[in-house]
Amino acid sequence: MIDILDIHTHRPDAVAALISTDPRRFDPQPGKWYSVGFHPWEDVDELTVADFGLLEQCACHPQVLAVGETGMDTLRGASLDIQASVFVRHLQLAHELGKPVVAHNVRATQHMLDARRKAGLSDVTLIIHGMRGNAHVARTLLDAGCYLSYGSRFNPAALLATPLDRLLIETDDSDVTITDVASQVAQTLHLTIDEVTKAATTNAQHLLMKPDSFN
Ligand SMILES: [Zn+2]
Repeated sequence: MIDILDIHTHRPDAVAALISTDPRRFDPQPGKWYSVGFHPWEDVDELTVADFGLLEQCACHPQVLAVGETGMDTLRGASLDIQASVFVRHLQLAHELGKPVVAHNVRATQHMLDARRKAGLSDVTLIIHGMRGNAHVARTLLDAGCYLSYGSRFNPAALLATPLDRLLIETDDSDVTITDVASQVAQTLHLTIDEVTKAATTNAQHLLMKPDSFN
């Protein structure tokens, strides 16, 4: 049973959370769950063969339930070609391991979906974290099978366009609590905090269940 409410945080002490970490800083603690990846703001153009080897090794760890944070950012970081190729490396690994990908997407929706399609990896599920795009962007991502994770800042129309079975919530690197986020999301959706946390936990459970627990 994987009891995760906060699908994306960088706080190493977070509970009931998927803690996102760089493989070079991966230090698994008992009872915690992780995702590992190279953030597009890091110097991804300088990654070595050894770095990718380490990523693969960490991604296989039993407490690592997803690959990422990876993704693309048109406003920051390396050239988009390099970002795309690093993103695809993460997708390939996720595909091999049967794990989803936690994706950072800043005005790069089409770039990311194109990179995934061209690599023949459209079966890899993307968790779009820190979803701030509008309702049109939300629908594009939902049509591509993505789950959308909302934090403390979001576009209400996008949230309203997100079906409850694709909804996730997160704290990322903000100071808010996951209950604050659940409360904001609940208000917008005219639901109770309980209903939101139940939906988000169920979705996380479904997404992150280890392949061998399907049997
Ligand atoms: Zn993050």
